[in-house]
Amino acid sequence: MFQLGDNEFFLFSGPCSLESKEQLESQLSELKTGLVRAGVYKLRTNSQSFQGIREDGVKIIKSLKEKYDFSFATEVVSEESAEILSPIADYFQVGTRNMYNYELLKYLNKFDKPIILKRGFSATLDEWIQAAKYIENSEQRVILCERGVRSFEKSYRNMLDLNAVAYLKSHTNYKVIVDPSHGTGRKELILPMAKAALACGADGIIVESHVNPEVALSDKEQALNHKELRFLISEIESLASFFDKKVVF
Ligand code: PEP
Ligand code: MN
Repeated sequence: MFQLGDNEFFLFSGPCSLESKEQLESQLSELKTGLVRAGVYKLRTNSQSFQGIREDGVKIIKSLKEKYDFSFATEVVSEESAEILSPIADYFQVGTRNMYNYELLKYLNKFDKPIILKRGFSATLDEWIQAAKYIENSEQRVILCERGVRSFEKSYRNMLDLNAVAYLKSHTNYKVIVDPSHGTGRKELILPMAKAALACGADGIIVESHVNPEVALSDKEQALNHKELRFLISEIESLASFFDKKVVF
């Protein structure tokens, strides 16, 4: 799977962090999702927090790919991680903390992969687009991901800026997806904001889920369980038909 089609709405889902083979296999077997996200390297604010299973993740994804048909999106945090993840990643994700890492962005030009470029948490749209342009052929290869910006409001983790989606869709040719998980940090806000993302013209969403959120090693407050993810998918599918879009998940 390379780029997003015009009449499709892409729904990536999966855990914040890949923790074990069993963890991700339960999603693949129960929900049969074909667009999967999971962090193998994690950039955490606290240096003592779980930093990802790193190299061990490569073997896990390789063996799951032998059994299940899915595309895998995962975050690159450095040039070295990009090399290690390249054999298993179908999409490279550049996280909010690295949007300004221009040397990393330049380095990613050596790989022939679409890049999900998350918005820096206080980046202007202009800074974000300029960052995207470090990728050659950027309109074809970069998928911009709105994941919320820092604001004065404390009731949720970030303020999801859906203006940005509508603006970018009317002023640029980029594909734009929305991350309502990091954009809100609260489970109960994910479905409404996922629907809003579809309604305001986004090309897709990326959502965090976990087989057992209570024991997730990162971002457990915002992880949907499988039942909730299944419900989200069905709600998005029924709304998408109104916009003549097919949901790919
Ligand atoms: C993620 O998607 O796992 C992530 C860390 O997101 P962000 O970079 O937007 O915080
Ligand atoms: Mn996360």
